[in-house]
Amino acid sequence: MSLLISNIGSLVTNDPALGAGPLGLLADAAVVLDGDRVAWVGPAAAAPAADEHTDAGGRALLPGFVDSHAHLVFAGDRTAEFHARMSGRAYEAGGIRTTVAATRAASDAELNANLTRYLAEMLRQGTTTVEVKSGYGLSTPDEARSLRIAAGHTAETTYLGAHVVAPEYADDPDGYVDLVTGEMLAACAPYARWVDVFCERGAFDGDQARAVLTAGVAAGLRPRVHANQLGHGPGVRLAVELGAASADHCTHLTDADVAALAGSDTVATLLPGAEFSTRAPYPDARRLLDAGAAVALSTDCNPGSSFTSSMPFCVAVAVREMGMTPDEAVHAATAGGALALRRTDVGRIAPGARADLHLLDAPSHVHLAYRPGVPLTAAVWQGGARRL
Ligand SMILES: [Zn+2]
Repeated sequence: MSLLISNIGSLVTNDPALGAGPLGLLADAAVVLDGDRVAWVGPAAAAPAADEHTDAGGRALLPGFVDSHAHLVFAGDRTAEFHARMSGRAYEAGGIRTTVAATRAASDAELNANLTRYLAEMLRQGTTTVEVKSGYGLSTPDEARSLRIAAGHTAETTYLGAHVVAPEYADDPDGYVDLVTGEMLAACAPYARWVDVFCERGAFDGDQARAVLTAGVAAGLRPRVHANQLGHGPGVRLAVELGAASADHCTHLTDADVAALAGSDTVATLLPGAEFSTRAPYPDARRLLDAGAAVALSTDCNPGSSFTSSMPFCVAVAVREMGMTPDEAVHAATAGGALALRRTDVGRIAPGARADLHLLDAPSHVHLAYRPGVPLTAAVWQGGARRL
């Protein structure tokens, strides 16, 4: 079955061969979907016939957002911790360990229901591809079931056994690294595409992170890294050295870090929800873009430091606070996320791409930043199927 979407006031293709600028913008455009793929893109006046027809009403059509960094397999929430932090009160509870305890205590059905709910929340805001990490199990069975549940929903699953040292190993962090690179990895690898590590003071140092990533690669996984979120450190340069698809956070960068990213094909994935929710300084996207680094925007959706599932929110904050233009932010949230997942079939609207489309209740993609906090999603297609 084919579908013609006509009367598109402004079409973001992310293909410079199809339209103007890096966004490949087309005015008065049409798109034809055939099954789960995009079959044709061009001026509305030249559109071929199709089995069905939808009138976009002059509104803007974009690729579905690609959220390449999210932590969605968990139970419970951390409202009290956030409330205390935002009220200037000390809070003694255990941070990530609070979520680990709740996740371990939850049934598979509860974890699956939570994940399903957050993915639906994302879809309602235009997100059609989501990466999902483990990292709240921190034991072999709990990490493996987290990834098994995630793999039922997305191909982009990431083994993050090295999120923090499990509480049972508080006095033996190297013993925990042995577990993460040994038995736990073997149990998780069948359900994961990626391996990740939180390389940060208080989590895993450069040598431990290298051990986790190289063991993951040896098991057939591809590396990505939580790097340079809370301070300077070796994470970004380790990501570049190991050919990681992405270095995520990139909030505290030296000139050498920026140069390393710019000279590599490792994407700098920026996660402004984390700085927003912890009142921390934002990463300097302008500096990365001006140096020539590839930049992605993602939510980092998790119950502790960034409990937003909204890519439109991240776009608006990136424009207001991080020096990105509206065009750069929309590109980073679509094509940038695809690049950070090494995907060429999503994040663009071009013949052969997956039919993942986001129709805005607005005449231009600029409204995502111009109208912050306003629900602008009018329709979503995922793999050619109308989902909203
Ligand atoms: Zn994260």
